[in-house]
Amino acid sequence: MGTYVVTGSASGIGAATTHLLEDEGHTVIGVDVLETTVRADLSTPQGRADAVTGIRTALRGGHLDGIAAVAGAGAHLDDPGKVLAVNYFAPVAVLEGLRRELAAGGEGRAVVVSSNSAGTAPLIDETLVRTVLTGDEEAALERARGRHIELPEEIAESAPSITAYASSKLALSLWVRRTAVTAEWAREGLLLNAVAPGAVLSPSVRSAIPPDTDPDNFPTPIPLGVFGQPEDVAFWVHQFLRPQARFTTGTVLYVDGGTDAAMRPEGS
Ligand code: NAD
Repeated sequence: MGTYVVTGSASGIGAATTHLLEDEGHTVIGVDVLETTVRADLSTPQGRADAVTGIRTALRGGHLDGIAAVAGAGAHLDDPGKVLAVNYFAPVAVLEGLRRELAAGGEGRAVVVSSNSAGTAPLIDETLVRTVLTGDEEAALERARGRHIELPEEIAESAPSITAYASSKLALSLWVRRTAVTAEWAREGLLLNAVAPGAVLSPSVRSAIPPDTDPDNFPTPIPLGVFGQPEDVAFWVHQFLRPQARFTTGTVLYVDGGTDAAMRPEGS
């Protein structure tokens, strides 16, 4: 049986991924700001360093079979800097910090959870995306907090950090594509992919939208006519974590009921 790290393990997609792995008999080292194996606030560099140390302690010298970096912060938060830090700098720090432990087993698997808003939101700040990808967290947080994209009033109220959210998820998807093909990952047997969900009724989303919201009246189209459940996304995260998933790397898989295809029919 294997050993896996799941960040954001206390809720939603992370909890569903943890259950799938545990049901197969694997050991899961959960990381979350809420109660779990390793409790850490991934929004700060110190919290991320503590998380990596806590995971190494739990591993007791062993290797990791996979990491699912699922933890994320929503666009409803007031602080766009925090949203950026949790959604981009946290998964990158955890994956880079544990790359050695992941490579040690010979067929490590890493998955991040991006979002289809990386492709569908018209509110992305391209300068912010470029700044994030330089790895300069201080400059990126400053840019995000400067709120350089003007938001329509209704969006500014319900999703004040939408620009930081969508920009962080786009940067994360780009990081996956660029990193997965480097020799440090690809030639070490390390596979790195992203799952990009659409509207999924995890606890945080459930509390943010009225309970009787009709999927056909959601702001973005959902061709399948239903909201996703955390298990629908966890299924694909779990597939990418399996040793048998051995010829796919650097991919961004949309799990969104068809939203991305409907909004970007010319996209790839
Ligand atoms: P959720 O709120 O149910 O779970 C998120 C988890 O991350 C929680 O357990 C939370 O405690 C943890 N977390 C948040 N901030 C943290 C921090 N600073 N340090 C440590 N842990 C922290 O949400 P979810 O819907 O399951 O989200 C999982 C991932 O899916 C996120 O990356 C989210 O951006 C992404 N996503 C979700 C949707 C959706 O509609 N639910 C859509 C697109 C992308």
